Amino acid sequence: MGCTACRYCTPNCPIGLDIPKILSLYNDVKLVNEEWRATFADAMPEGKRPEDCIGCGACTGHCPQSLDVPAVMKEMAEIRKKFQKEQ
Ligand code: SF4
Ligand code: SF4
Repeated sequence: MGCTACRYCTPNCPIGLDIPKILSLYNDVKLVNEEWRATFADAMPEGKRPEDCIGCGACTGHCPQSLDVPAVMKEMAEIRKKFQKEQ
């Protein structure tokens, strides 16, 4: 996921998610294939975690890399949910 952290997307997110930070965490999870690392998003403010994405797509149109941000948020939310169930 080639996010350059340009942050063109972030002012357009109605939830105020730190999109590049979450994408960076997503890359970490995928790089080492350790899903538990998705729990690091617990340290993000309440209401601003991957599962708080409403899938509006307002970010994608502003991304020069054409990244499918909502899909990543959804996947991260699913990973985090799975892990929470295991606890
Ligand atoms: S799709 Fe999710 S990350 Fe993108 S702008 Fe909407 S709420 Fe924010
Ligand atoms: S606009 Fe795209 S490349 Fe830039 S920070 Fe957002 S997701 Fe990353």
